[in-house]
Amino acid sequence: MSSHTASQRYLSTRGGSYDLSFEEAVLKGLASDGGLFIPEEIPSLPSDWVSKWQHLSFGELAYEIFSLYISPFEIPATDLKDIIRRSYSTFRTEDVTPTVTLDKDKNIHLLELFHGPTFAFKDVALQFLGNLFEYFLVRRNQGKTGRDREHLTVIGATSGDTGSAAIYGLRGKKDVSVFIMHPQGKVSPIQEAQMTTVMDANVHNLAVDGTFDDCQDFVKALFADPEINKTHRLAAVNSINWARILAQITYYFYAYFNLIRKPSFLPASTIRFVVPTGNFGDILAGYFAKRMGLPAEKLVIATNENDILHRFWQTGKYEKKPVHGKEAEGGIPQDGVKVHEDGVKETLSPAMDILVSSNFERLLWFLAYEVYTTSSDAVAQRRSQAGEHVRLWLDALKAEGGFNVDQQILAAAKKDFESERVSDRQTLQTITEIFSSPSSQGYILDPHSAIGITGALRSAERATPPSTHHISLATAHPAKFSSAVDMALNGQRGYSWDVVLPSEFVGLEDKPRRVSNVKKSEGWEGVRRVVVAEVEAELQAVERAGK
Ligand SMILES: *Cc1c(COP(=O)(O)O)cnc(C)c1O
Repeated sequence: MSSHTASQRYLSTRGGSYDLSFEEAVLKGLASDGGLFIPEEIPSLPSDWVSKWQHLSFGELAYEIFSLYISPFEIPATDLKDIIRRSYSTFRTEDVTPTVTLDKDKNIHLLELFHGPTFAFKDVALQFLGNLFEYFLVRRNQGKTGRDREHLTVIGATSGDTGSAAIYGLRGKKDVSVFIMHPQGKVSPIQEAQMTTVMDANVHNLAVDGTFDDCQDFVKALFADPEINKTHRLAAVNSINWARILAQITYYFYAYFNLIRKPSFLPASTIRFVVPTGNFGDILAGYFAKRMGLPAEKLVIATNENDILHRFWQTGKYEKKPVHGKEAEGGIPQDGVKVHEDGVKETLSPAMDILVSSNFERLLWFLAYEVYTTSSDAVAQRRSQAGEHVRLWLDALKAEGGFNVDQQILAAAKKDFESERVSDRQTLQTITEIFSSPSSQGYILDPHSAIGITGALRSAERATPPSTHHISLATAHPAKFSSAVDMALNGQRGYSWDVVLPSEFVGLEDKPRRVSNVKKSEGWEGVRRVVVAEVEAELQAVERAGK
């Protein structure tokens, strides 16, 4: 591995495309062969990285890391610095992602990722992605006016978190419109208010009188529709976009530097990161950090009962549905857990309710490259062999609902990762215990972060303090998941909802809203009509204001 940063290029995990620029990878999102984009090489760190980087601000550190993945011929240094500055100036703490110590004796720390505009970790990536989209489009549109300008129409579906973070990342951006569909009345009141009270002309909320699955089906139908693709340049902001992974690498390094400054961190100490995981995007950034050279001993995946990843690490089988529906801990069926038609369980940590983890495909590519190819072969040949393995696995997932990997691949996966599955009941128990424990002093976890902490506590029984430190990622502010937090803490001494609620949320639900209603019965063509009409109205308004 070397860091020929000037020539960093991207390829598809399924072997169908090579040698793409960063800009192409970001604007396309998904490769034409259905694969995901990864850098052709994982850059290694400069030899003096610790002394050079340890006192940098979050933004300065982001610049150093991004520069290893983005050629300066694509984005000149001053432009990249400006994009980064604007992306993180919207955060409420100067640290952007501060670390707090939750348990001194057990060396358990929390990396708080929820200080952005929508109070969830997705802001770290989507604030950056929004500015990148705008930067690329404005550059392509230099000297062009009116209808000659390229316009990007971002379309997404949400059950809460992604939608609000995407809207706050893209609001007011030039040459970009964003349409976010949500199931009417099925998103938490705070999240619905966050999305629909944004009044920027380029933000379009669509409330569908159906389920989240209906919304997702509409998105898929639009992306597959030749007609709208002829007239509109569609883009997605879901977690498969490479720029989102890249943006998340920074906080692993930032947390590391934070930790090594603590007196409790000894020269021989080791570090484990624990990550509440759904689509595998957050933890994949940790994998890149580790492969670059960050000394993390293990990355611990913490899932809820949608546990496809946990089952993979136990068995080597990546399978949509367990053989028997009930996999609850201790074999006790969880009463009242709603299971969707496709097998997704509705849990108290909805941002992790997934059937398959889309970013896992990226890890598979690196595992196949490492295990199945030999260094005596030419690099191009090794890359295409890895892509071929990934394609076969993903074809089997589609056709048969799953696939098995052999022991070598599983062993390679276990070198870097461990996994834990956490039930709803344990999630609530952890929120209660951390709140009432003397060492954590009333700290209130949201249910996603509580899954991470549960995983960290279990991992600390294997990898014991004081020599091991655990950094668990806190992915959302507790106020976003009021019902679970209330369930865990109601009646506890010193708890009231007022302590949880940030001032930004007070009065949010009474603000004016803008949202278009979409009828499920009118199908995806109905959604297309609304999208086409609203983009047209937006462009006309821009023209009237401009020329
Ligand atoms: C999206 C999300 C996650 C899961 O992250 P992945 O990258 O999908 O693994 C966890 N917690 C919260 C609050 C989220 O919004």
